[in-house]
Amino acid sequence: MVSLKYRCACITRKGYRCKKAFSFVCDKTRCCTIHVFKYITHVLTIQKMYKGYHCRKYVKLLARLPCDIQRRVVFYIRESFYNTRRNNCIQAILCKRFVTIFGFPIFGFPENNGSDFVSAFLGNYRSSILTMNKAQFNDHILQIAHLYKLYTKYLKISNIDCDYSLYTISSLVKKDIEECLYYYHHSGQPYFYNNAESVVLHNNVFELQKSIGNFKSQYNIEYKSS
Ligand SMILES: [Zn+2]
Repeated sequence: MVSLKYRCACITRKGYRCKKAFSFVCDKTRCCTIHVFKYITHVLTIQKMYKGYHCRKYVKLLARLPCDIQRRVVFYIRESFYNTRRNNCIQAILCKRFVTIFGFPIFGFPENNGSDFVSAFLGNYRSSILTMNKAQFNDHILQIAHLYKLYTKYLKISNIDCDYSLYTISSLVKKDIEECLYYYHHSGQPYFYNNAESVVLHNNVFELQKSIGNFKSQYNIEYKSS
């Protein structure tokens, strides 16, 4: 039993004196941690006023500085905001590029749906690369190589769904491109490649294989190591 001297001075709902020891003195009344809550609006008002006063003190200080230093300070305060905005921008650009190159939306295929998605992708994608002409095919290889490079570089900030899609289709894309290359190279149909063009094509495919390999190893480090 807490002695009367140290007890909360509030009266409970049943009309008895509160039995808890007091922790605060508000308005000359001793209050325990429960009964002090009736002062909460006053406490919040005081805190709000104090925070305002505290901020204004620094704003006044800032206003007295030369404007170039002011700008630096403001940039420093907002830096994380700017970074978020920039990261969102990069993410949107990468997603858009993914859709432009592969021609399908990246969202909405859960991990366990992988095989359905892959077979749908296989049909569409293969028919799209088989109808390309030489220049388009070359460009396409370079574009994918570049896309994988970008996703490797921005893996930490890019969209997780995009990363996963790219990872899932990587072996397929590589295989399709390699098969196309083999087909063009050996049959010469439907477009004949001369030696110089073949060298360029092979270099591009090598570039693609390299960037896919890099992406996959980075992806494994980022998502599968933990
Ligand atoms: Zn009390």
